[in-house]
Amino acid sequence: MRIILLLLILITGLHVVAQTKCTAGEYILQQSTNSFPLYKPLTNIPSTIINTSSSARVMGDGKGIVTIPVVFHVLYNNAGQNITDAKINQQLELLNKSFRKNNADTTKIPAAFKALAADCEIEFKLASSDPKRRATNGIVRKYTSVKSWMDDDKMKFSATQGSDAWDAEQYLNIWVCNLALSSGYSSFPGSESGKDGVVIRTSLIGNSKILVHEVGHWLGLRHLWGDTYCGDDLVDDTPKQSTYTPGCPSGIRPSCGGGAPGDMYMNYMDFTSDACLLMFTQGQKQRMWSFFASGGLRSGITNSWGLHPPTNDEIPLPEEGEEEEPQKLLKSAVKVYPNPAVNKLVIDMGANENWLGKTISIYNTKGAIVLRSVINSKQHTIDITKLLSGLYFVAGKHENGEVIKIKFIKN
Ligand SMILES: [Zn+2]
Repeated sequence: MRIILLLLILITGLHVVAQTKCTAGEYILQQSTNSFPLYKPLTNIPSTIINTSSSARVMGDGKGIVTIPVVFHVLYNNAGQNITDAKINQQLELLNKSFRKNNADTTKIPAAFKALAADCEIEFKLASSDPKRRATNGIVRKYTSVKSWMDDDKMKFSATQGSDAWDAEQYLNIWVCNLALSSGYSSFPGSESGKDGVVIRTSLIGNSKILVHEVGHWLGLRHLWGDTYCGDDLVDDTPKQSTYTPGCPSGIRPSCGGGAPGDMYMNYMDFTSDACLLMFTQGQKQRMWSFFASGGLRSGITNSWGLHPPTNDEIPLPEEGEEEEPQKLLKSAVKVYPNPAVNKLVIDMGANENWLGKTISIYNTKGAIVLRSVINSKQHTIDITKLLSGLYFVAGKHENGEVIKIKFIKN
């Protein structure tokens, strides 16, 4: 009985996913509409923008490839949702393969469409500098008390228990959270900057092609059916299509009065199952690249600092007042004394040995590090003679997720 119930849950769960694969079409309708370039055909795309590497720093690899700095905002309510770096890297690899036409399954593209399949010459890399040009691994992890999220952008703001966007002119923001209804959605070029980015359901990060589809939207691509019956996706080389394709079909499936070769249901911008999603077209590539052109809505990406070495050696201070996952916050277990302190400060880890050999930092109220010290005993003493009088924070983040964040006063 339990197995049948489980199966039922699984089947209905999958059904829901299929029905609500991506809600970017609805999302755009909710936004103020006509100003979006998305609704305007790009009639005058200069052919020179393809493979141009002249002025743009991130294109300066000589191959004319745009490399987009990415930040993942991982919002977790339990340890399982705090997905590993390895999973994120695996997902990035799939994203890169798909955009570079390096996916092994390109061999399955039907002969009639093979010549249209594009190496989009767009790549994605985790950011190495954050917006303040401090070192980062491009992954922001944040505990949230929110158990599930709607497609309403709340995950994009700290004020609503989410994580604030990094400058969308310079980074592709990807929020990973427990989306309740859809697999994901994306903003389009020209969206409000605080909301600009892609949202993906946590359980789909890893091997799923939903991120490929959503990043397509982020770079200005529409669904093949233009979100209406036989609508227009503003791309010339994708056949007109009546609506989305469910499942994983085969053979020629014409619609909208067209004949062979029929719908291009293996295109990433359809809703077909992952196993059957294989390609972007040359026309879609052109449309995406048009946004990188000088003055284009994604041109900032080509001048981003996001992939440069950091120039600011501050370390982001765990945000003041921000709620950490309760069992990981060591505030209560760790003591700092005397407080106020004059020459010496003792950091008393109690019985916790996890931090031996780890570095802890002292920050001033501006968030700059004024002292660093390697913890060498459970009752670790730091010489603070040289600090000016004032308020400071002892802070550190252990790779196991434990956080220390304690105020003290130096007299
Ligand atoms: Zn979509």
